[in-house]
Amino acid sequence: MSAAGRFAPSPSGDLHLGNLRTALLAWLFARSTGRDFVIRMEDLDRVRPGAAQRQLSDLAAIGLDWSEPVIWQSARREVYRAAVAELTSAGETFECFCTRREIQEAPSAPHAPPGAYPGTCRDLTEPQRAQRRGDRPAAIRLRADTASFTVHDQLHDQLHGDYTGEVDDFVLLRGDGTPAYNLAVVVDDAAAGIDQVVRGEDLLSSAPRQAYLAVRLGYPVPEYAHVPMVLNTDRIRLSKRDGAITLAQLADHGIDSARALTLMAESLGLAAPGESVDVETLLRRFDPARIPREPWLFTPPG
Ligand code: GLU
Repeated sequence: MSAAGRFAPSPSGDLHLGNLRTALLAWLFARSTGRDFVIRMEDLDRVRPGAAQRQLSDLAAIGLDWSEPVIWQSARREVYRAAVAELTSAGETFECFCTRREIQEAPSAPHAPPGAYPGTCRDLTEPQRAQRRGDRPAAIRLRADTASFTVHDQLHDQLHGDYTGEVDDFVLLRGDGTPAYNLAVVVDDAAAGIDQVVRGEDLLSSAPRQAYLAVRLGYPVPEYAHVPMVLNTDRIRLSKRDGAITLAQLADHGIDSARALTLMAESLGLAAPGESVDVETLLRRFDPARIPREPWLFTPPG
């Protein structure tokens, strides 16, 4: 299996310029290092009908290409269950019966960071578990043996690229049996030979948990680059409310996909204002060390 990078959208709606810019960066990182590029649809929940196909056609419209087939998480539920079964048979998971409210209201464990799972169900006895099973279906949590983990991130290199973040007994399978995002990402990245994870900065705080889970499952830890977000003029992350931010909406304002690519390239310092570019040109110019570390402030037209 060759080394690969990836873009892993959730098909909950159309991609906006921020998502497309992250995809472009992931493609540039992968291609500039001779890697394959994989698209994975994270369609385990929050799926909007038709969104995945529109996302793929928008990625193609800005010039990206990828290895077929596209990976669909919804087709891989058994693989996630098998990974959890493996951990469970080694005694590395536990059933959790807590509601969100119970977790919020529980006193936190000494030295635990705020919001960390307080450990309520970690040491239940078998009779206690048997009794709780009647209340509600259990979620499955990882029995973590550390409170933090350090990953290396190419774009957060103030401290030699080390980013240390919280690890707690996080959920692997939700009570309704749905694999948790952290589990599916780790299992899928390993299965597809993905050794380079480029994605939005909003996911940096998830990386330590995911890298730690990879280690627990005996998988290699990928290298990371968490890229700056796109913000509106109020410095809030771009969202539907901002209006013209998807390719279809921009087209209504006379900005076609070639022009949208140029705008993204300009924001990355890879094109002069108004210069028309294609992704191959950007690839020749790409230098990860020169990616702006600040968010891109984008004013939607109209
Ligand atoms: N599906 C996630 C999202 O769209 C990204 C997951 C990842 O890149 O690890 O936010």
